[in-house]
Amino acid sequence: MVITFPPMGNVSLAARAFFEAVQIPYVSPQKANKQMLQAGAALSPDEICLPFKVFMGSFADSIKAGADTVLLTGSCGPCRFGEYCELQPKLLKKNGFNAEMLVIDAPKAIGRKELCRRIRSILETSPVSGASKFKAFRQALHILSLADGLNEKAREAAGYEKNRGESKRLLEACFKQLDSVRLPDDMQAILLRYHEKIDFIRKDINKKPIRIALIGEIYSMIEPFANLFIEDLLMEYGIVSKRLITPSWWIKDLAEKPFGVHSAQIMKAAKPHLPYNAGGHAKESLGFAQLCKNDGFDGAIQIYPLGCMPEIVAKAVLPSVQKEHGFPVLTLIIDEMTGEAGYLTRIEAFIDMLAEKRKREARTA
Ligand code: SF4
Repeated sequence: MVITFPPMGNVSLAARAFFEAVQIPYVSPQKANKQMLQAGAALSPDEICLPFKVFMGSFADSIKAGADTVLLTGSCGPCRFGEYCELQPKLLKKNGFNAEMLVIDAPKAIGRKELCRRIRSILETSPVSGASKFKAFRQALHILSLADGLNEKAREAAGYEKNRGESKRLLEACFKQLDSVRLPDDMQAILLRYHEKIDFIRKDINKKPIRIALIGEIYSMIEPFANLFIEDLLMEYGIVSKRLITPSWWIKDLAEKPFGVHSAQIMKAAKPHLPYNAGGHAKESLGFAQLCKNDGFDGAIQIYPLGCMPEIVAKAVLPSVQKEHGFPVLTLIIDEMTGEAGYLTRIEAFIDMLAEKRKREARTA
């Protein structure tokens, strides 16, 4: 068994750490990029959403590189993600890419027994002991949380740094080093070292940077290519950005879901506007936007792939949140045709508008 998995931001890093530690052969996906998307789009139905196309391009590359098993997580409600594991193996096979697809789905969907069987079918190919597997799993989670935490710290520091661009440079240097190592211990050491470096960035705490919340579809949140690297762009402008949805948050949310205590505050904030489950993370988008407004954020940017059903529902409801709370929201919809120039212009215009709004409010205060 040679496993591969889709490119999903920091998740890919944690997966690499895990498979390395348990000595299961794997093909690490390349970083998501334009060529991958175009190749994936050529294998996919036109109307399907962008993550499907990126995944297809990545799976095709990894199968060519020797992978024979594709690992995918299951759906999170009524959206197209549930169709991925049905459609993708058929389309891959039809186009000459032979691989088995192993879906790690929620026990609710496939039953606890079947879930255990699927996990066992992967783990039994590892030569290491059960205790080592458990340690590897915990370490992979730790690496994931360190990487997500570093991102968050750097995005916050970008608004206050004295040397413009320092936090972005550090973040890039860290991920470049992570790409060059294989051992989980090395990954962990690099991340810890860069956490310290970001902590010691020289800051001007009197600055009052514009603060923007990022909301939207999960893949657009966790995979930088799927949002056209918006966080990096905002860092260049000295803007603080924050997003709720990170892989670490998603795992915690998943673990808490069966007990009904997941994202309680966010769900409460979203409920008056969207009392029903629209799939994906539509409720989280609405609830997080409101909480960020209360937390002093200037506005939010909602990002989702063209045709994303849950976020279309969220977009329809967001105007009422904007109106009720006076909280500006810009919506960006991404597909393989999205041009960077137009995207950039809209973000710049939104930032100018937020800065003007601040000035206006200061004058009238
Ligand atoms: S959340 Fe949206 S983009 Fe993501 S899989 Fe579902 S429909 Fe597609």
